[in-house]
Amino acid sequence: MKEKKDCKIVQDLLPNYVEKLTNEETNQYIKEHLAECKECNKIYENMQKDLGIHHKRSDAKAINYMKKYNHKLKTLKIILLIIFLLFVVVVGRKTWILSSLSHKAQETETQETRNFRSKVINYKDGEVIIWDSYSKGDVILLYITTYGENTNKKEQIIYKSSEEKFVLTDDGETKTMKELGDVFINPISFTSDLFLENIWLAMTTSLEKITLQGQECYMIRDGDMEKFINPDTGLAIKLVDNVVNRTSDYYYEFGNVTDEDVARPDTTGYVVEE
Ligand SMILES: [Zn+2]
Repeated sequence: MKEKKDCKIVQDLLPNYVEKLTNEETNQYIKEHLAECKECNKIYENMQKDLGIHHKRSDAKAINYMKKYNHKLKTLKIILLIIFLLFVVVVGRKTWILSSLSHKAQETETQETRNFRSKVINYKDGEVIIWDSYSKGDVILLYITTYGENTNKKEQIIYKSSEEKFVLTDDGETKTMKELGDVFINPISFTSDLFLENIWLAMTTSLEKITLQGQECYMIRDGDMEKFINPDTGLAIKLVDNVVNRTSDYYYEFGNVTDEDVARPDTTGYVVEE
């Protein structure tokens, strides 16, 4: 009878024993019983066989799952690679266009700025400001005229030569003359001399070729700003800032400035300001 009672206990413990969940003391007790009891030993062996089959089945399931998973992963990798390549192609193409525009602008600046005229017209809040400049050699003559809806016309003339630099201001009431620091006038380009900056520009802005007033040009849409670029010179044509409602038009002309265009302006009637 003692044997039978042990058998029951051992058989109760066997499922845990085959899964190696029982403690050392219990293991010892079961091992001793199995060595002596054929019936329990047989049950134990069957359980081990079942466990083996079960494990094999779940292994096969796991392998199948891994295969499917790997396949999905591969597809995902290919899709990501395609997206990445498209991104590289699009950004690469834009960077190339921006870099070649900036290269053209630099060429224009280094070769032609010894003799050029530029005109920039700004429109903002019912006010028009016109920058009209003539550059020849070291001499610069710049007219800045402001027309306001509710204000007088204001005119400023900036003159720079190797001997003197001054600004004449005529606001319709007073005429003053003031000495100036230094003045530089360079054509505007919306691209950068730095390759990395052009990559950044290519990634963060849209670039398209459009026709503006019958003229082919590139348009960079940078947030709320639209920048139009002359494809031949790389220089600015137009800037539209939709945030502050400002429009600027740029005109450039090279090689036509004469000595007369940059003659020292007449300063009579202007009061010198310290
Ligand atoms: Zn037994």
